[in-house]
Amino acid sequence: MELKIDSKDIDFHQLIEYSLNSIWIVEQEGNIRYCNKACLKLLNITSSKDILYQNLYSFLPPDFHAVSKERLKRVIEKQEIVELLEQEMIRGDGEIVDIEVMAAPFYLEGKVLAQVIIQDITQRKMAEKLLTDREKLVSIGQIATGIAHEVKNPLTAVKGFLQLLKESKFHPYLDMMESELEKALATLQNLLQVSKPDLHEESLVPIDLCQELESLLFLFQERLYNVKLEMDLRDSERKIIGKRNLFLKAFFNLIKNAIEAIQDTGKIKIEHYYQNEWIHIKVSDTGVGIPEDKVKMLGTPFFSTKSEGTGLGLTQVFTTIHKHGGNISVHSTIGKGTTFHIQLPVR
Ligand code: ADP
Ligand code: MG
Repeated sequence: MELKIDSKDIDFHQLIEYSLNSIWIVEQEGNIRYCNKACLKLLNITSSKDILYQNLYSFLPPDFHAVSKERLKRVIEKQEIVELLEQEMIRGDGEIVDIEVMAAPFYLEGKVLAQVIIQDITQRKMAEKLLTDREKLVSIGQIATGIAHEVKNPLTAVKGFLQLLKESKFHPYLDMMESELEKALATLQNLLQVSKPDLHEESLVPIDLCQELESLLFLFQERLYNVKLEMDLRDSERKIIGKRNLFLKAFFNLIKNAIEAIQDTGKIKIEHYYQNEWIHIKVSDTGVGIPEDKVKMLGTPFFSTKSEGTGLGLTQVFTTIHKHGGNISVHSTIGKGTTFHIQLPVR
């Protein structure tokens, strides 16, 4: 016999409670009167007691308060359904997540409340960003590599003739010319290595990043006398699989930049931990910071603000992380400091 379900017999509470979307019911002032299980998960909160009667706005970054107030007003006073909007939310543990929100009026005991439906779009945003980052790097990298090849050959020829000249004739400038030429060739070689790291086939091995980070810091001991170093290396048993030398070089480049960003005294913090199936590594400094309009330039070959800079360090870092299926993001405040946050998959 066919089972017929009449909608009035359905326990809607049960449907909502287990919905994959986060659902809230809030009052006009933002007081939360109900939230389902998905919502607790999204906010990384264990018990609904910690959230009921709290205010919606305590989970929203201040930038989004005005627009959310206006939307709630439309839902409750005009009883409109408001369209999907991308915004951010602050989780219980302080992490920011990307979300998409819509809201509709909800009627309860003669009162109008708002039913807010939230979708976590962090993964989607991350994938989109990764794609544009990669495209940017690939196209600029291709141009740069092409030029490097073109320039390297004639320079190598000049170097050869210079050596022949030195053998037949003495001139005090010849040594200088040769050493300048070698610098130029080294830069080109560096660029070629960075844009095509696979030229040097290295095998994939399990890497204990905690151990590698500790030994890398020994290399900087001399430079660290005016810099306080804080290490917080957790979950060292989680290993990544990858090309060890590429990672050593990448973390060397990040730590070097952090030290160079600190003018007099300051602090560098290095964190390593496992969360949500990713290894997280954060390299933070209390240095000069990076202007907002320059952040998107990071990773572009030859972008440097230093008089002696090559602008290839971060290109190597970004390429290495992306090649290993990871993500990298940068948070920086002028005059306060910079954090490079790397996520790598555990294999
Ligand atoms: P280089 O160090 O040779 O300049 P990089 O690719 O390593 O090249 O870095 C590129 C630029 O990014 C630097 O010149 C600097 O302006 C900026 N940068 C990188 N890391 C930091 C940091 N930790 N703090 C401030 N600025 C940074
Ligand atoms: Mg550098």
